Amino acid sequence: MNVLLTGGAGYVGSHAAKMLLAAGHTTWVYDNLSYGHRQAVPEDRFIEGDLMDGARLAAAFRDYKIEAVMHFAAFAYVGESVTDPGKYYQNNVVGTLSLLDSMRATGVEKIVFSSTCATYGVPEVVPITEAEKQAPINPYGYTKLVIERAMADYAAAYGLGYAALRYFNASGAAADGSIGEDHQPETHLIPLVLDVALGKRDEIKIFGDDYDTPDGTCIRDYIHVDDLATAHIAALEKIKSGEGLLLNLGTGEGASVLEVINACRKVTGKEIPARVVERRAGDPDRLVADASLARKTLDWQPKHVGIKPIVESAWAWHRDHPEGFGK
Ligand code: UDP
Repeated sequence: MNVLLTGGAGYVGSHAAKMLLAAGHTTWVYDNLSYGHRQAVPEDRFIEGDLMDGARLAAAFRDYKIEAVMHFAAFAYVGESVTDPGKYYQNNVVGTLSLLDSMRATGVEKIVFSSTCATYGVPEVVPITEAEKQAPINPYGYTKLVIERAMADYAAAYGLGYAALRYFNASGAAADGSIGEDHQPETHLIPLVLDVALGKRDEIKIFGDDYDTPDGTCIRDYIHVDDLATAHIAALEKIKSGEGLLLNLGTGEGASVLEVINACRKVTGKEIPARVVERRAGDPDRLVADASLARKTLDWQPKHVGIKPIVESAWAWHRDHPEGFGK
């Protein structure tokens, strides 16, 4: 298939691009490099462009006979979305509507969308199924929910076929160590802990140890970025015109902040000093997916289950690329 990936120079997008290419799909990355890394994408697959540039998008769709879009391009810092919601609604909502309209104008009828477990807010039932009420507790989650809604309406009215994949905690790095996680600034737990292992930071701050969990630290469902990538490819093949697939992508297993830090200590052999500090605003106790619907619908299984293999692959990348992709 001829596939265009918006935000394909970012963390999850670059891993999906690599896997699509390996699977023989004609793959194009469309990215404005606001956060993505030019080096994460093969030279001859890259188009520099902005979501808001409808003419450029439409030209890319026509020139490369694009049949489907994977839409990764979005801002994803929860805290920043609270202090600067305008930036998030502009890019994540207005930018995506621009993309959907360019797709309509050129007859591209399929999209796989990066949604998030943040659309559930504080879930009533964990593990979380797709039937859980979607009630985000921050603007980031709302921007993703708005687009899920828009896609449902576009499916009903215009025949769009879509998948909204609700990621849990994307983590890990490509098996061959060629690409990995490099956010500027970095806020995610695993890369921060590995920075401490590398001596780039003095300690890891644990955001609260008085949560309602066995060790008091928050539990998350860490899913390997390559497992996310294979789910995207499977979803692409299942999408039907006028219909939507709404799927959680997680492993179904949770790990606490302390368990993640201990796994990093084991894998790296470093001491990794840690200190408990105040809770971070907006962190629910436990976010773990019931991903049985994705497993069944996509005939898909995550290959990396348990925190250790995920940390091992993240460490291989961090150890060999202490400066990430560099400047
Ligand atoms: N966390 C932490 N210290 C950090 C970064 C994160 O204790 O320096 C915790 C955070 O409160 C959450 C978990 O680690 O419970 C995962 O956070 P991350 O930002 O990686 O992903 P999120 O769950 O927010 O998407």
